[in-house]
Amino acid sequence: MTTQPDPVHHLLDRLLRDVLLPEEREQLAGAVRILQARVNEQGGAASVAVSAVRLMNQAGAQRDAAEARVRELEAQVARLTPGTSPAEHCGHQIPALTKHTERTECVLRPGHHGSHATQHGARWWWISNAEATP
Ligand SMILES: [Zn+2]
Repeated sequence: MTTQPDPVHHLLDRLLRDVLLPEEREQLAGAVRILQARVNEQGGAASVAVSAVRLMNQAGAQRDAAEARVRELEAQVARLTPGTSPAEHCGHQIPALTKHTERTECVLRPGHHGSHATQHGARWWWISNAEATP
C-alpha cells in the first residue's frame, strides 16, 4: 500500500487549519481527483479479477465434465473393440459398495438368468430386481 504524497498531507493540514490559499485549493482538488481515479482503476481491476476467477471456475467444471465424458467414451470403445471384452454382455454395473469398488460390468450374455458376474467371478444381484435373483 502506498502512502499519500506529502503535498496532499500539507494541503490537508492547511485546509483543516482554514488557511488554504485559492491556488492550494485547486491543487488539493486536483490531488483528490487523481486519487479518485486510482480508486476507480483499482475497482475496475478487482472486477476484472473476479470475472477471471469466475471464468476459470467455469472452465474447470467444463474440463471435469469433458474428462468424465472422455472416460465414458473410452470405456465404450474398449467394450466395443473386439478382443478387449466379450462381444456382447449384460453390462449391469457392479454396485459401488465402497468408494474403492472397481466399477466393472456384468460379463454374462444379455438376458442371462441368475446373478450378475464380473470377469473375476464376483457375483451380485439387485434385491428389487426379481429376474436377477439366483
Ligand atoms: Zn448381468
